[in-house]
Amino acid sequence: MVSSISLEQLDRILPLVSKPARYTGGEVNAVKKDWSKVDVTFALAFPDIYDVGMGHLGYKILYSILNQRDYVAAERVYAPWVDMEAKMREHGLPLFSLESKRPIKEFDLVGFTLQYELSYTNILNMLDLAGIPLRSCDRTEEHPLIISGGPCSVNPEPLAPFLDVVYIGDGEEAVLEIVDCYRQWKQQSGSRQALLQSMAQIPGVYVPEFYRVEYGAEGFLRERRVIEEGVPARITRRVVKDLDAAAYPERFVVPLIEVVHDRAMVEVARGCTRGCRFCQAGMIYRPVRERSLETLKGQVRALLANTGYDEVSLTSLSTGDYTCIKDLIIDLVKELGDDNVALSLPSLRVDSFSVDLAHEIQKTRKTGLTFAPEAGTQRLRDVINKNVTESDLLAAVEGAFRKGWDQIKLYFMIGLPTETDEDILGIARLAQQVLRMGREIRGAAGKAGRVQVTVSVSSFVPKPHTPFQWEAQDSMAELERKQALLRDNLRHRGIKFSYHDVKASFLESVFARGDRRVAEVLEEAWRRGCKFDSWSDYFRFDLWMEAFAAQGVDPYWHGPRERQEDELLPWEFVDTGVTHRFLLRERHRGYRAETTADCRFDACPGCGVCPGLKVDNLLVGGATGGDHQN
Ligand code: SF4
Repeated sequence: MVSSISLEQLDRILPLVSKPARYTGGEVNAVKKDWSKVDVTFALAFPDIYDVGMGHLGYKILYSILNQRDYVAAERVYAPWVDMEAKMREHGLPLFSLESKRPIKEFDLVGFTLQYELSYTNILNMLDLAGIPLRSCDRTEEHPLIISGGPCSVNPEPLAPFLDVVYIGDGEEAVLEIVDCYRQWKQQSGSRQALLQSMAQIPGVYVPEFYRVEYGAEGFLRERRVIEEGVPARITRRVVKDLDAAAYPERFVVPLIEVVHDRAMVEVARGCTRGCRFCQAGMIYRPVRERSLETLKGQVRALLANTGYDEVSLTSLSTGDYTCIKDLIIDLVKELGDDNVALSLPSLRVDSFSVDLAHEIQKTRKTGLTFAPEAGTQRLRDVINKNVTESDLLAAVEGAFRKGWDQIKLYFMIGLPTETDEDILGIARLAQQVLRMGREIRGAAGKAGRVQVTVSVSSFVPKPHTPFQWEAQDSMAELERKQALLRDNLRHRGIKFSYHDVKASFLESVFARGDRRVAEVLEEAWRRGCKFDSWSDYFRFDLWMEAFAAQGVDPYWHGPRERQEDELLPWEFVDTGVTHRFLLRERHRGYRAETTADCRFDACPGCGVCPGLKVDNLLVGGATGGDHQN
């Protein structure tokens, strides 16, 4: 028996909270199905507020794929903001979906995306608000199956006790298999154990409770054992081989309030093979698969017609690398120009070609341009394999100033392996050079005073499945010292400096590389009041430290510590396709400041993905570097 929440009660609460439209649903293109006519209900749960979650492309894709099946109803739910949560708890209103206003507890499946380590407490908070037991072992056949996917799933261990099922890979590949498996089980009304057993048979699916981990005397992970018969020891990532043929939504739900990424989006490609050694996305989404021009143009047309948006963004990890980017932009500008539809490229490469593209699509509205040189010296850029030179950057910036941009944002990372103060000072030197160049060029048009350079600096967090997964993270004190050094050397009118909270980066590293023991701390911290940790106003580092102490878990050991190369790592059972050998080789090439070429344009350096997962780079603009190496 399913029931909607009390709508009268909701109506009473909504005028009392900020942005009530976050909770009303009823948007254009939202899909509301009759529950009596579907077999399976799926709540797509985003562990942050509506304003953030509505811009998330992965959920739009899943929402569309699921709702195209007549036997599935997929609905959305976001984390209620603190004011709404307080009112819901006060009135005993459980977490509910936007479409049918049903309690989340009534759904068959609840899927969370693991986008960011600092959203993990929100997952616990949402489960609690839904009235669903936090731990998988406390759930019965009466409860929904709690499933997760997304980038952080490549190390799901810090969330292991809370998740029934983890899916690793491209969502499109398996979401229907998962739903069909559930449907079959439901029709046969089997036990929860039987459901988990059959889920574990789906390639790419991991059921944490079927594995036991043991630790050695010094706290190192000693063994991972499969404790359920017939489930795989390793979980191999699933990959969409032909992105062009993959489903893509033609109707985005159009939000009622302003949200992040509020525009039509087409995903031009998935994956990146540039091989930056710190970048998790660049390792876990290999190889590169591009969509054809015709498909993309068709998707843009359909999306604009169905949503009324006047902006389209061309997304991917590195859109400037799409092999037919110029043709795509020329065609789209020609087609859309008369309708006043704006195009945007969210990620620019550090080169003049990208500036030309940006110029092509931003002829009138010249907002700022962002480049990511990542490091301040050539030596360090070679260590991280950021195949960008200072002259590339200066040429790109010069082009931008000449074409009329006044604002340039430069994105860097500090705390990178082998970094010295010289590298830090290199950031300041580059920023000043860019400012000088801007004043000179824009000065000729009488606009020197408008030139602004923003230096945005994040802290390196070692991530699983990257060549730098073994690295130590700088201590918080060291990162703060480097930030101060940079600040002192960037005091200049015309230069703005922004940086990340080192405490947040510290915690991110604990949950990025942690094992099951940090799950206890996660629950403890949430019980002490931690949530919305990625929102600086709500981040309570003091409570986190209390939680670590209460659980007797050393955050320094789980987070910043350098890992031994022969250490069993908590995430090693996840096979992303990139081999351990390649990651290790890349780590050592990094130490020698040896760069590795991009296999799209050069020979294959042998990451292992293509032969291992039986997939290939699929470039619409031409062939790749040839045979795969080992
Ligand atoms: S196997 Fe070779 S071609 Fe394929 S993604 Fe890896 S490096 Fe590139």
